[in-house]
Amino acid sequence: MKVAIAGSGALGCGFGYLLQKGGNEVTLMDYWDAHIEAIRENGLHIKVNGEEDNVPMEIGKPEEIDDTFDVVFIFTKSMGLRSMMESIKHTIKEDTQVVCLLNGLGHAKTISQYVPRKNIIMGTTVWTAGIDAPGVTHFMGQGPVEVQNSDPAQEAAARRVVKLMADCGLNGVYSEDVHFTTWRKACVNGTMNALCALLDTTISEVFASSQADFLLHHIVTEFARLAETEGVKLDVEETISYLKQIAEKVGSHYPSMHQDLANGRPTEIDFLNGTVARESKEKGFTAPYCELITQLIHAKEDILNIQRQKEAVTA
Ligand code: NAD
Repeated sequence: MKVAIAGSGALGCGFGYLLQKGGNEVTLMDYWDAHIEAIRENGLHIKVNGEEDNVPMEIGKPEEIDDTFDVVFIFTKSMGLRSMMESIKHTIKEDTQVVCLLNGLGHAKTISQYVPRKNIIMGTTVWTAGIDAPGVTHFMGQGPVEVQNSDPAQEAAARRVVKLMADCGLNGVYSEDVHFTTWRKACVNGTMNALCALLDTTISEVFASSQADFLLHHIVTEFARLAETEGVKLDVEETISYLKQIAEKVGSHYPSMHQDLANGRPTEIDFLNGTVARESKEKGFTAPYCELITQLIHAKEDILNIQRQKEAVTA
């Protein structure tokens, strides 16, 4: 199959690499010059579950790609999704399947402005990835990549994408309720990621705090109230015990939002707690914990940027 990866950072390179290794014709798309140059000159250097490899891969900026694809996987950060969709319009045919595995809420609505709903496949992944240098990445996982068709009539299309991934070792799984999975993952990110980023701690340190139960209860309640308006039933207590199970397994980690702040990158908070705060208000109720967390994360982004600028001036 002809596959494009729109947003070839950490996860995009991992998926692209395995899809190519599995026999597909893969093109990476990104706008990061140093990364594109490095992959063009030296190939993609990648470590997958500890095993290193170096492979040539096609890569270019979206506007340089004069081709269309059977499947496009989107792997920008949430805030890059709209501009990516805008810049890859010419690579999408009438029957191109567009697969979105981003964290965060509201992405199907954004994609549907560019792609008919029958061709949109939404999902979640528990694989993890990182960038070590331009053209050098790592990718880890085994867990399911759950996907489901956005249009209920298109189950066969989603199952073809499941097979495409499964054939390449990506553990594609058909989800019977991707809305639920997406909301539940948003709860993970909206609690652990946001709190660890704000408090500058690991997951287990946040969960050991005397305030953990109180905070989890209020944040998850706000997510659950909005989810219900979209027909998704998130049981607050069950979700909190799910979060605690995850915390037990990966408690020593600093989640990605913590790393985003540490590396001076904008966070995805507006597509997590920020969406809950904004859309709750639009629907006539409030989500004060999510609203405050969003404001504090943005304040922290600003403070760290100002500190970095001052350090650069004095260096
Ligand atoms: P990343 O920042 O490593 O990669 C995103 C890439 O998209 C970057 O290389 C950037 O240059 C590119 N990009 C963004 N907008 C673009 C545009 N308009 N045109 C061209 N290129 C553009 O991000 P990531 O860590 O791979 O995460 C991608 C998504 O997957 C996020 O929603 C993240 O929350 C989610 N996710 C990540 C992990 C992980 O372990 N990294 C795990 C699960 C989910």
